[in-house]
Amino acid sequence: MENTPEFSTLPLSPQLRSGLDALGYQKMTPVQSLALPVILSGKDLIAQAPTGSGKTAAFGLGLLERIDASQVRTQSLVLCPTRELADQVGKQLRKLATGIPNLKLSILCGGIPLAPQLASLTHAPHVVVGTPGRILELIEKGALDLSSVAVFVLDEADRMLDMGFEEDIRAISKRMPKQRMGLMFSATFPEAIRALGKALLQNPVEVSVDSVESTPDIKARFIHTDAEKRMPQLAAALMHYRPQSTVVFCNMRRDTEEVVRSLAHYGFSALALHGDMEQRDREEVLVRFGNRSCSVLVASDVAARGLDIDIIDAVVNYELPSDADTYLHRIGRTGRAGRSGLALSLVSDGEDNRARVIDLHLGKATEWESIPALEGRPRAVPQAPMVTLRLDAGRTDKLRPGDIVGALTGDVGLKKEAVGKIDVFATRSYVAIAHPQAGQTLEKLRQGKIKGRKVRVNRL
Ligand code: AMP
Repeated sequence: MENTPEFSTLPLSPQLRSGLDALGYQKMTPVQSLALPVILSGKDLIAQAPTGSGKTAAFGLGLLERIDASQVRTQSLVLCPTRELADQVGKQLRKLATGIPNLKLSILCGGIPLAPQLASLTHAPHVVVGTPGRILELIEKGALDLSSVAVFVLDEADRMLDMGFEEDIRAISKRMPKQRMGLMFSATFPEAIRALGKALLQNPVEVSVDSVESTPDIKARFIHTDAEKRMPQLAAALMHYRPQSTVVFCNMRRDTEEVVRSLAHYGFSALALHGDMEQRDREEVLVRFGNRSCSVLVASDVAARGLDIDIIDAVVNYELPSDADTYLHRIGRTGRAGRSGLALSLVSDGEDNRARVIDLHLGKATEWESIPALEGRPRAVPQAPMVTLRLDAGRTDKLRPGDIVGALTGDVGLKKEAVGKIDVFATRSYVAIAHPQAGQTLEKLRQGKIKGRKVRVNRL
């Protein structure tokens, strides 16, 4: 949202500004910045905008801007697929309308007794939010008069069609004046939605948040966690998804070491990467992660900056970062090179706000998931497939990768498949060996020679 304009750039009435101030909104979300100029100019709109994108405020500001509260008539109707959504939308509109004196808004949904609703309609509400079935029922009973509606909103139109509300919606629209503004929001755009848009809207402008931000190959999930159970929750998430290579991001450098210790306790092979490390230690950690002999890298943002590894199956936010850019940067490390990626974030109650800011930035709601935190140590923790051996000889000794492969497949007798990635530095080299063959390879290398000379070898 860093690059979207502020609400102050819009021609909004002072009454609505106070509502925005009360809600603490300053910058527009991507959908709002695309849709509001269209809505405020009075044009019809069809918008691709999922839950969490800030669409409610987009149509809310548009419809409230047109209310004349001195006229006791229903001037705006919002149709929603479910009672829960209608409640949510109604509440948010009430907050946005705090600066408009005497505004009456009614939420009218099925599943609630009819009599109190009928009673509440003796004075027409300025704004009605409801579900199609009940709204039609109230119209037919003569309790709701839509002949003065100036703004008609269809929220989550695709879901309303899925739920079989199309006929009701069409019937309701016939009770409104032809000269009205129509706004339709939908997460998806199947043919039926286009057809409905054609029938109910006049030359709608189309907007879509897809063009703003998208992370197509990354499956992102927010995982609820108790703040004090973050560690067992992390272990549970890793056990649940079993990624082969994972980068866990911590907000604080000092947390990285602690998370590594806990993961080791659970049986994972994990290493820390943070800014305080010696260059050589840092290189070694990156070699071990890159050659698959360590399956979890626990990193701080700064340390991970130069991380250029293609095989990251999952990124986990041990905590959510405070800004959406860092989040995007972190999760962008998975799903590269045409692979699909997984981005998991542990979110405690106090971090809901961060989660919301991230959703707003992405223009879509990240799915939440509950995975029970681990109790005790798990069995069958996924192991890294390789082991790293360090050779104390390198480029300055004229050692090349081919020499190492030669020694391993020749004297040591390994099959080529058991030899993994080889990294040669100035004075050291690293080779990854398949886990089952690692012990025996170490022994043989220690006894034998590489390129005609003895080399010190250690297992990391
Ligand atoms: P919605 O997609 O309409 O359900 O909105 C998602 C959430 O974002 C709601 O909790 C809104 O209160 C919040 N929200 C909407 N617009 C903004 C904004 N411009 N700045 C901050 N929060 C917002």
